[in-house]
Amino acid sequence: MVEPKNPKRLPRVDLPADARLDTIAVREGLPASQYGENSEALFLTSSFVHPDAATAAARFAGEEEAFVYSRFTNPTVMMMERRLAAMERTEACIATSSGMSAILLTCLGLLKAGDHVVCSQSVFGSTIKLLGSDLAKFGVQTSFVSQTDVAAWRAAMQPNTRLLFAETPSNPLTEVCDIAALAQIAHDADALLAVDNCFCSPALQQPVKLGADLIIHSGTKYLDGQGRVLAGAVCGLASLVDEKLVPLMRGAGMSLSPFNAWVVLKGLETLSIRMAAQSERALALAHWLEAHDTVERVYHPGLASHPQHALAMAQQNGCGGAVVSFIVKAEGAELARRNAFHTIDSTRICSITANLGDTKSTITHPASTSHGRLTEPQRLAAGITQGLVRVAVGLEDVEDLKADLARGLDSLRP
Ligand SMILES: *Cc1c(COP(=O)(O)O)cnc(C)c1O
Repeated sequence: MVEPKNPKRLPRVDLPADARLDTIAVREGLPASQYGENSEALFLTSSFVHPDAATAAARFAGEEEAFVYSRFTNPTVMMMERRLAAMERTEACIATSSGMSAILLTCLGLLKAGDHVVCSQSVFGSTIKLLGSDLAKFGVQTSFVSQTDVAAWRAAMQPNTRLLFAETPSNPLTEVCDIAALAQIAHDADALLAVDNCFCSPALQQPVKLGADLIIHSGTKYLDGQGRVLAGAVCGLASLVDEKLVPLMRGAGMSLSPFNAWVVLKGLETLSIRMAAQSERALALAHWLEAHDTVERVYHPGLASHPQHALAMAQQNGCGGAVVSFIVKAEGAELARRNAFHTIDSTRICSITANLGDTKSTITHPASTSHGRLTEPQRLAAGITQGLVRVAVGLEDVEDLKADLARGLDSLRP
């Protein structure tokens, strides 16, 4: 990219305009400081000093792009924002303190009382709560529809629908929604489509290419990639992000800390090789689980048996992602739960935690953790049975992961 002529803009990294994802992931950001550091610097400072009062005035008035206060932005945070925007192929990005604050910022910035949202019923549990009950208090109504039934999305549209919200693949059943079809429904109604791209990351899926308007991230997951920090981001057109969300952030203040931004920034450098390696291990594990005699069913978009396999492969660069779920065989819910717990408790490598996106594989029982607050009928409607186990595959040797699961699964044989 060429440095803008306007001297009042911050400089850009001099990258070829056609630089590819892996190059952008390592190089995009801000030019080095006057010290010429090769690895991006961590700017732990709350405010920035101006050379004189007139310059301070110009910067506060927005006549000169510069750093003022880290609630607005900060060089390390901006490096992360620019890098992620370039990877998602969007004009702009705003970093937030967590994935949930990215969703809150989007809703506060783009919706008002009287507006209506259509959302998949399979999105992250906190998203359902935020849209379905917290925002309802402020007069924003949400209709929840099937993740995979495009006709249901269309049928839920109302004259006041302003936003469609999707997350694909879903957690924990890896259901895949058709981003291009949802974008069409949104745009036919003059509404926006936001896609939570947490499970794929831009390494596997760039929803903007399929027509999405806003990309939401929990940087806590694959973008950091090593389970260290909370972070979030919203990517999209400058007319949405820079004009509607950035001014709101100045007052709302769910800003990302420079330290967390730096961790995510460095995580982005290895994102695509991690996603490829973790997806490959997850698929190998999924095939192995499918062939195991104490496993009833396996969910992974890379399996030919996955209901949206073809769509997933087309939408996700041919990769299924790193999350694989399976149901252990059992007669009745009580035994299913006991068998699932036994499989989880027999592991010695996998971490028993509901987080995902880590190089350390994690294992969880969705029905009693992430989906534990639903009623049993709500859970069953969502396909979350007592025998369901979710593994978010990390970077351990896949043979060791198979052995880790085999320890419990083999001993379930009658
Ligand atoms: C974890 C997660 C979030 C929320 O992110 P936080 O960083 O924990 O706030 C949102 N969406 C999806 C799909 C997630 O997995």
